Amino acid sequence: MPISAPDTLLRVADLHAGYGKIGILHGVELTIGRGEIVALVGPNGAGKTTLLRGISGLIRAQAGAILFEGTDLRGLGPSHIVRRGLCHVIEGHRIFTQLSVHDNILLAGYGLPRSELAVRVEEALAVFPEIAERRHERGASLSGGQQQMLAVAQGLVRRPHLLMLDEPSAGLSPVLVDRVFEAAARLRQAGGSVLLVEQLIDKALPVADRVCAMVRGAMVLDRPTGSPGLSDEIAAAYFS
Ligand code: ATP
Repeated sequence: MPISAPDTLLRVADLHAGYGKIGILHGVELTIGRGEIVALVGPNGAGKTTLLRGISGLIRAQAGAILFEGTDLRGLGPSHIVRRGLCHVIEGHRIFTQLSVHDNILLAGYGLPRSELAVRVEEALAVFPEIAERRHERGASLSGGQQQMLAVAQGLVRRPHLLMLDEPSAGLSPVLVDRVFEAAARLRQAGGSVLLVEQLIDKALPVADRVCAMVRGAMVLDRPTGSPGLSDEIAAAYFS
């Protein structure tokens, strides 16, 4: 997608980032359009999680640009970035185990207008009836899969313009994986975009519009999911 396309939501250009002196991202390029689901794949250690952390402000970019709705996010902290409509559901369904399901979602909606909060919490819970019926129970009492749904619901409560999901299928049964991916598809129907880091490529591709592959801190593939020969290209990227 060209830089100037009016429906570009996120454009990451020549991004360099890492941990201390260790460089992990070496000039990453990524564009996400409005209403698009982009699957991000790549071997372990390629830098997918690091890219998400860089976009959401959890680590500082060393160079490059992260344009979100036309504003450069570099230098903004995570709380500012969330308020701009970019939510990052981090790997490993981190929730507040001592708080109830309801309060976990309420907390994720911090800063939203009070008048809207109750509606937003119900809206997020409605996506996952499995946790809605346990709304008064503590996070600790949920199964791993239910905690993952709760983490996604925390992301949805803000009606993000871009939701970034890092390995949402990890530890989930196939049925629950489908439920999480359905939530991504629903968000897209409502005009939102999703960046989906996922190892289950066969599950991710049917819901995605495009697939990008990262290898050793750089983007090596960016294709529409319907492209002929895509499976071979993805396989080649993994073994390059
Ligand atoms: P995976 O699929 O295994 O989660 P990934 O593509 O998401 O892999 P990252 O988690 O971004 O990859 O890791 C990229 C590199 O950064 C790896 O070599 C990893 O060891 C390193 N790394 C990740 N987190 C840190 C950290 N906090 N400090 C130092 N190095 C880190």
